[in-house]
Amino acid sequence: MMIKTEKIRELDPMDRGFTLIAGPCSAESRQQVLECARSLSDMGVRIFRAGAWKPRTRPGNFEGWGEKALEWLREVKTETGMTVMTEVANSRHVEAALKAGIDMFWIGARTTTNPFAVQEIADSLRGVNIPLMVKNPINTELELWIGAFERLYGAGLTRLAAIHRGFSAHDERLYRYSPQWQIPVELRRRIPGLPILCDPSHMAGNSSLVPSLARKALDMKSDGLFIEVHPDPSNALSDSAQQLTPAQLRELLPTLMSHRDSAEEDMEILKPYRENIEQTDLKIVELVAERLKASDKLGDMKRLRNLTVLQPERYKALADDMVKEGKRYGLDEDFVRALFEILHTESIKHQLDNNLK
Ligand code: PEP
Ligand code: MN
Repeated sequence: MMIKTEKIRELDPMDRGFTLIAGPCSAESRQQVLECARSLSDMGVRIFRAGAWKPRTRPGNFEGWGEKALEWLREVKTETGMTVMTEVANSRHVEAALKAGIDMFWIGARTTTNPFAVQEIADSLRGVNIPLMVKNPINTELELWIGAFERLYGAGLTRLAAIHRGFSAHDERLYRYSPQWQIPVELRRRIPGLPILCDPSHMAGNSSLVPSLARKALDMKSDGLFIEVHPDPSNALSDSAQQLTPAQLRELLPTLMSHRDSAEEDMEILKPYRENIEQTDLKIVELVAERLKASDKLGDMKRLRNLTVLQPERYKALADDMVKEGKRYGLDEDFVRALFEILHTESIKHQLDNNLK
């Protein structure tokens, strides 16, 4: 299925090419929600997140205030003008959140893992093209993530975005959920135009690791950040270790922005060097084509004279010559041998193929 997403204007109203979404893991009380939203709004954050329903690994933990929390989010919207978003995991959540006027939804990592739940959400949103973000599934299965986008798109949702929040890995020590930067890169290739944000909070599992992951996300051309911020993290009812205080976010933001700008300047400086490499690579392709054409001719001669294609002494002599020449330029012997091996294998293949003609 070819997915063609539409721009979510709310993500980047000023066209700065970057989105910041912040807020507490859970909406814990009216006071906590409003206090957090006010401080975020004051520092220029335009999109507020808070979980009304919390998927917990074990029962008996705080599972969110549900519809009551949606009322607090509405208050945030009215008072600060922020765009507000919450997590939905089934059609009941969708109905309640739509009724409460929540602006955007996200689908959590555990829900993305379950095609039944994603389909149920998609069906309950048919005809309501609300902006929706899909977190990666807990396990490193890109197809499952793409499948979720296909189910939602199939129900007419076109204002979609992805959130890379890290993957479960049995050997991970440093992070709670391992970032797998190549997966969003592949997702971008498979669904061009899909905005992909990064959630460094759930990756990190610890607030001290959030800044470096956020910087890495910018280096990886993430379209924005989804960060957990709590006015009093140590007393948070969920994900206490990983939430930043508003003050910590305020301190982090300018360093992120200057990191991003200087990364762009660095790219400019690299341009001529990159062009040089590109030109040289093109020349290599041309030379390789010439080399293979020469060996095709040699193959024709061998065939005419009924000689064997592979002549090991000759191969060895050529390889040794190449290593010797390579040394003059400071090239590593193993590298030169490997390179010659590739060229020679392809050349033999050509000659054999020609023999079959
Ligand atoms: C969250 O964002 O609070 C959340 C529950 O995230 P995830 O689905 O990534 O665990
Ligand atoms: Mn959380």
